[in-house]
Amino acid sequence: MNADELPAAWAWCRDMRHAWAPYTVEPATVGGGRGYRQSVRCERCRTIRRRFLDDRGRVVGGTSYVYPDGYLSPPGEGRMTDEDRAALRLRGLDVRPRRLRSVQ
Ligand SMILES: [Zn+2]
Repeated sequence: MNADELPAAWAWCRDMRHAWAPYTVEPATVGGGRGYRQSVRCERCRTIRRRFLDDRGRVVGGTSYVYPDGYLSPPGEGRMTDEDRAALRLRGLDVRPRRLRSVQ
């Protein structure tokens, strides 16, 4: 992995995890009954995370992710090493703070 080739925001997300924000909620058939497909999206890298809830709010099944093209390491590259993680931290230093949103 060459961290310098990644957008700084992606390096930040891989080091510090994503910044999830509400995205979509759709009705869905879950476990044979009514439920929801809930999607949240990372405000930095646009990764989408999806899960299914039944009508009582219980999570059914697994969580899935849709990553932007190029976000994941190419197949066969193996797990990140300590050096890779260190390089991500340095790359993430280029991410600048955003202005806070107004509080409602
Ligand atoms: Zn992210």
